[in-house]
Parts: sequence; C-alpha cells; structure tokens
Amino acid sequence: MALAQATPWRLHATVPRSLANGPGERFVVWTQGCALACPGCFNPDAHPATGGFTRAVHGVADEVLTTPGIEGVTVTGGEPLRQPEALAAFADMVGAAGLGIVVLTGYSRSEIESSPTLAAAVTGVDTVIAGRYDQRLHLGSGLRGSANKEYWARTGRYSTSMFVAVPDAEVLVGPDGTVMVTGMVAVAGRELG
Ligand code: SF4
Repeated sequence: MALAQATPWRLHATVPRSLANGPGERFVVWTQGCALACPGCFNPDAHPATGGFTRAVHGVADEVLTTPGIEGVTVTGGEPLRQPEALAAFADMVGAAGLGIVVLTGYSRSEIESSPTLAAAVTGVDTVIAGRYDQRLHLGSGLRGSANKEYWARTGRYSTSMFVAVPDAEVLVGPDGTVMVTGMVAVAGRELG
C-alpha cells in the first residue's frame, strides 16, 4: 500500500448516501478543521483542528468502494484542502474506481492554482466549488452557498445545471436513530441528536 493511502485523515462526519450534496446519490465526507473564518459559516463545529476523529485514507476509500449504487463522493468541511495529502490520496483511490469527485473548499481557484500543494490535491477532482463563503451573497440552493463562489469544472463529468438541480436539504436517519440534516438550507452535516 502506498504511504499516502495510510495517511491519517481528520474528519468531522461521513454519510454513505446523500442526495443533497452533489449530483446523484453520493457518499459524503466532512473533513475536520478550518481556519478561514468566513463570517456566518454554517458549520462551525467543523472548525477546531483537533476535533472530530481520524481514520486512515484507505479505510474511508474502502468504505466508499463497498457502498453500492453511488455515483460519486463529495468532500466538504471544514476545509478539505487543509489536509491536501489525504485528499489527493483519497481522490486517486475513488477516482480510479470510476466514481466522480466533488470538493467544496473555501480557497479560491487562483489560490489553489498558485499553490503546488493545493493544486496537486485537486488533480483527481471533477468539480471544485471554490471560494470563501460570503453571507451577504448567500444562496439557499445549488451547493455554492454564496454567489461569489465558483463551480470550477476540471472535467466534463458535471455541468452547472446538475448542481443547480441538487435538493436544497435532506433529513437522514442513521441506523441508531441519529438524525442529520444536510444540504445548503440552514445547516450542513450537523447531527440533531
Ligand atoms: S471555508 Fe467553509 S468551513 Fe471554513 S469558515 Fe468558510 S464556510 Fe466555514
């Protein structure tokens, strides 16, 4: 196994199947840790760098690859590019299996392209939804969160209209009865108890 695949990845949450985090049915990974401090951020619980839990990248990828019927994976946060090596290794593994990959990040396209480390992290990603969240330009649908953010299509797999058609929110009930609301309305990836 490549060393990068054993990289510890600090995560906030995962769900095996969602319809409100990208086109089609998707596995969703919320990473833990973000220092970008966008006012009005909808997921402050994912900010502390020491919160959440850690898993090896290959363990998460193996779970994705044994989840039937999904079209792809969305990686959000928190800030996925805070852990660029883990993201790159994960994208390599699930992309090689033919799954689509969407990443939501607070970094802008120009910030990513000007950093070799960040650029390498999104090499295997189909669409990056890029830029700081601006609460003055809030959008309740379409996954961007605010109108200044950019759909950066790095492959032809996903069109903008596919993101616009994503449901605004969904309620997921886990096997243990845990209720989670995800999507762009009100909260994202937050357990309600
Ligand atoms: S980049 Fe995302 S997680 Fe980080 S503060 Fe901004 S909106 Fe919140």
